[in-house]
Amino acid sequence: MKDIFEQGKKLPLMQEFYSIQGEGFHAGKAAYFIRIGGCDIGCRWCDTKISWNADIYPLASTDSIIENAFNSEAKSIVVTGGQHFSYDLTYLSKKAKEKKLQTFIETSGAYPVTGEWDWICVSPKIQKPPLPDLYEKADELKIIIFNDEDFNWAEEASKHINKNCKLYLQPEWSKRIENTPKIVEYIKKNPKWNLSVQLHKYLHIP
Ligand code: SF4
Repeated sequence: MKDIFEQGKKLPLMQEFYSIQGEGFHAGKAAYFIRIGGCDIGCRWCDTKISWNADIYPLASTDSIIENAFNSEAKSIVVTGGQHFSYDLTYLSKKAKEKKLQTFIETSGAYPVTGEWDWICVSPKIQKPPLPDLYEKADELKIIIFNDEDFNWAEEASKHINKNCKLYLQPEWSKRIENTPKIVEYIKKNPKWNLSVQLHKYLHIP
C-alpha cells in the first residue's frame, strides 16, 4: 500500500501565502500561493534556489494547506515550485476542487501532470525541456529571457503548443534593465507574444 507521502497527502511545503499573481495571464489577480520544495533542473538564474533541496522542508498535510487556502478568502490556488510534479498532486487538486477553489499551476513541464488544473502555465527550461503532452495541455507558455538565445528557444517552444495557448516573454529579473527593451522591440515585430513582468517584485509584495 502506498504511504501517505506517495499518495500526495503530505508535501514538502516551502511557502504558502495569500497574495497577488504578479506574472503572466493572471497578473493582478488575488490567489493563494503554494510553493513545493524540490527541483533537479538547476537554472543558473533561478530566483528560488532555496527550493532545490526538498529535504529541508517539513512534510505538511495537504488537507491543512487547502484548508488554509480556503480560509484565506482566495478563489484560486497557484501551485509553484520547485518541481511539484515530481509528487502526485491528484489529492491536492481534488481537495481544492471540493472547496470550489480554481486550480492554477506553474510548471517547467519536465514531469507528467497529475491532478486536475484549470490553468497550466508552462515555463520551459532548456536544460530539461517539457514532455510533449505538456505543450499540448498548456494554457500559457512563459519564456524567461536571460540572454539573446532565449528568443530562439521561445520560437522553438512555441512550435509545439496548442492553438489557444497564450504566449509570454518575461525578462529574467537580474537582466530586466537590459532585456526589457529588447523584449518590447521583439514583441512589436512578433505580436503573437505578450510581455510579462514580475509585478510583485516591482511592488515589493510576496
Ligand atoms: Fe529554479 Fe524553476 Fe529552474 Fe527549478 S525549474 S531551477 S525552481 S527556475
